[in-house]
Amino acid sequence: MQRIFNFSAGPSTLPTDVLIEAQAELVNYKGLGLSIMEDSHRSKAYDAIHHEAMDNLRALLNLSTEYEVLFLTGGATGQFAMVPLNLLGPGQTADYTNSGAWAAKAIKEAQVIGKVNVIANCGKEIPTRVPRMEELTFTPDAAYVHITSNETISGAQWPSFPETKAPLVADMSSDILSRPIDVSPFGLIYAGAQKNLGPAGVTVVILRKDLAERVPDSVPLFYRYKTHMEANSLYNTPPCFPIYMLALVTRWLRAQGGVEAMAAVNRRKADKLYEAIDASEFYQGTALPEFRSTMNVTFRLPSEELEARFVKEAAQQGMSGLKGHRSVGGIRASIYNAMPEAGVDALINFMQAFAKDNG
Ligand SMILES: *Cc1c(COP(=O)(O)O)cnc(C)c1O
Repeated sequence: MQRIFNFSAGPSTLPTDVLIEAQAELVNYKGLGLSIMEDSHRSKAYDAIHHEAMDNLRALLNLSTEYEVLFLTGGATGQFAMVPLNLLGPGQTADYTNSGAWAAKAIKEAQVIGKVNVIANCGKEIPTRVPRMEELTFTPDAAYVHITSNETISGAQWPSFPETKAPLVADMSSDILSRPIDVSPFGLIYAGAQKNLGPAGVTVVILRKDLAERVPDSVPLFYRYKTHMEANSLYNTPPCFPIYMLALVTRWLRAQGGVEAMAAVNRRKADKLYEAIDASEFYQGTALPEFRSTMNVTFRLPSEELEARFVKEAAQQGMSGLKGHRSVGGIRASIYNAMPEAGVDALINFMQAFAKDNG
């Protein structure tokens, strides 16, 4: 079986070992004579998976008992609505930072629900970046402050996080578990799974428990964090199979040495790729160097024709998913935890040869 290097931004590559394990268990899970995806979400076997996935996340993020791990559906996009529904009461203001396409989408949805103050806006700047700390002026008594820790489309990432009086809320869809973070300043972290955690279908929410009490009575039960918290994320049928995959991916991550070990590999992968970009006049990085993402490496070639040829020839050599997001063009190499270093090395070799042939 020949696996390609898949640089897709999401859904994205999964650890091959995890896929092999899932395959081995797919038809007959642990001798029970059924697949885990066929089993009841109240079964003993599924219960163990559900709890292992939660415990692995708790361990990897070093979560205190102040925080709850929730498994929801609806993607990060669902959270764009659920966050303000739960945390932004009448008469309150939420601070949002606009750092790019995903932040803008979160802002648009929050504006439907309540009062939003966009406290920094660099979302349309090129080169791309996220706000600088000195640009942030918070609203006194803001309900919360929202950031997008990594802009998957533009390839810009917060190198560190702002200090806020209000709870910090972060969309970490594309960089959760890629680097160690101190969770304590955060009131809420959310992430769709299909970038760095597993397949699409489960949305992870890390919630400081006291915030669940804020929800106005007008919010339907299903859209309250409190409902899912009290039901241990089993209020309705959870996406059992994606959660099973999440359990395997987080188990794999712990076996790799956890987030610190993964961050060292991620740093090395990103550094060498950016070095290859900077070493050649042919390639131009899209993000300001101080805000370059370690997960989504974005760059341009001298023309759109060359970019199209780059994507096509890379695919012929077993490297897929390199086309930039349709809204911005260019090239994007997504190098999440599960992208092996050999994949980045292969891409760099290809880039050097391509620049030589076409430069
Ligand atoms: C992919 C992505 C989203 C959207 O996720 P869905 O699961 O498709 O809703 C939101 N925010 C960021 C930062 C993303 O990378």
